[in-house]
Amino acid sequence: MKNEHSLSVQAVKFGGCEYSFSNTCDFDSVLTTVLVDTCDHPDVERNMISRKKDVPLFELILSIMQKGLRAHAYRQRAVILKDLYRHSIKQTNANSYKIDCRVNACYLVTLLFTDAPSVEEVSICEGGCPPRRKKLRIIGIQRKVLHDPSFEDLLTEHVAITDKRKCCRKGCSSNETTNFPNTGNFHKFSFDFILPSLKTS
Ligand SMILES: [Zn+2]
Repeated sequence: MKNEHSLSVQAVKFGGCEYSFSNTCDFDSVLTTVLVDTCDHPDVERNMISRKKDVPLFELILSIMQKGLRAHAYRQRAVILKDLYRHSIKQTNANSYKIDCRVNACYLVTLLFTDAPSVEEVSICEGGCPPRRKKLRIIGIQRKVLHDPSFEDLLTEHVAITDKRKCCRKGCSSNETTNFPNTGNFHKFSFDFILPSLKTS
């Protein structure tokens, strides 16, 4: 994908306005990583098709795979970037806007996959408190487990919290256990804070 360093990139027009973007390298890197994974793995593509209405990034990737990197893809990318970086839009003319897209790549993945979490963490208190549920968009694991042969083992052996912990609710002295009963279709991992990779179940 051409970014602002390319002389042939023009501002993108939609909704009666013109938008130009700077510092899109993080977004373009994530897009390229997921695009390559999707091209290499038909199961990723299948899952992506089923979730494309929820995740605009999936729609963009499928569009590039089907129609190539054309004007339509740049317009889809512009719509996604405008929404993601709505707080850094600067008006430069009557109908022209400039958007700075600088961001940490891992944080960007959490934004792009808001509606496709990796896993749901559920903590159950032995004292009967309501279960605490947390949707994890990125799973942080150590780089050395990258070549673990089984994804299920990876979750239970390296990510799950096996020890009982004190319930965090005020006034409760019971212990709680945490597990992952619901895994999403797309699992994003961060290894020592490098760009997340993608796997599907
Ligand atoms: Zn409790």
